[in-house]
Amino acid sequence: MSGRGLGARRRIVVKVGSALLVDRESGLKRDWLAALCDDLKALTGKGKEVLVVSSGAIALGRGVLRLPRGPLKLEEAQAAASVGQVALAGAWASALSERGLTAAQILLTLGDTEERRRYLNARATLATLLKLAAVPVINENDTVATNEIRYGDNDRLAARVAAMVGADCLVLLSDIDGLYSAPPQEDPAARFIPHVPAITAEIEAMAGAAGSELSRGGMKTKIEAGKIATAAGAAMVIASGRVMHPLAAIDAGARATWFDPLATPASARKAWIAGHIEPRGTIVVDRGAAAALQSGKSLLPAGVTRVSGSFARGDAVIIVNSDGAELGRGLVAFDVAEAHKIAGRRSSEIEAILGYRGRSAMIHRDDMVLREG
Ligand code: GLU
Repeated sequence: MSGRGLGARRRIVVKVGSALLVDRESGLKRDWLAALCDDLKALTGKGKEVLVVSSGAIALGRGVLRLPRGPLKLEEAQAAASVGQVALAGAWASALSERGLTAAQILLTLGDTEERRRYLNARATLATLLKLAAVPVINENDTVATNEIRYGDNDRLAARVAAMVGADCLVLLSDIDGLYSAPPQEDPAARFIPHVPAITAEIEAMAGAAGSELSRGGMKTKIEAGKIATAAGAAMVIASGRVMHPLAAIDAGARATWFDPLATPASARKAWIAGHIEPRGTIVVDRGAAAALQSGKSLLPAGVTRVSGSFARGDAVIIVNSDGAELGRGLVAFDVAEAHKIAGRRSSEIEAILGYRGRSAMIHRDDMVLREG
């Protein structure tokens, strides 16, 4: 969906940069956080689901540990994050709970969003938290992420989260109010860009590399985030967080750069399942299950008559009917050995057969794309 404002969005990821939340001298900016939480409460009050990706652990921790200014060594940044994350999560939990909202801390590493099995786990937890009306407060798990395997910036992490949960909007609150044709501090002729229908080479060229000492992401990581989010079907907005009530300000028409999504979240996800992955196995279903799938249901183990291939949990498989005709494709919730054991059985028997509860569907309908016709 294009257009401005948060009014029509259903699931919104809000990324908060370190420089907004932490002052180098005075530490956590509690008043600002309180005002942002008022905005989040207003959104949930309108029936929207919100997730927060909050930076600030390293910035808070380095103050507590009295680390020197300037760039930190990786292990110092990790130590700072480990100290600061406690305070950061505590601040979010209390500011949200004062408004009747429950905070849920999630610390992710690159592997949690890139590896399919872990991705599915993280996604299932996030979906459950949203169903339970909790507000996930997410950060990178900096303490265990080494250079090669870390995001290092929360802009791209927030975009991955938006893609993972099928959000329709990603808000990047930053110390700058949007994208300019050149860095505005350096070039007085820099033009403000209010709307980016698609991220072209020209748009990419506008993003300099700069970032400040407190925040890692410059405009470059924001544009990278934009590519991930818009491809996954989310609109993205870069807006200033240097005002109180920054989300209300966006809705009131504050200056910001809006990026149009390339698709809807559902169609982007389905395109990914249908086209971009190599199927690792085949699942044969009976007539009843084939009919259930056509009416929009998940594939339950009871309707599975045969399983072949070598797949792990989260891999893509082909779903065929008893004549061998392809019905669709999906991401399977069990590995091949488990799928063999539970094929034809009721979901209520899964725990007794496998020794753990598992998911009730072999392939959840959100993870499935059926063939047309
Ligand atoms: N994960 C880092 C922190 O919480 C922030 C990374 C960023 O600034 O984008 O301190």
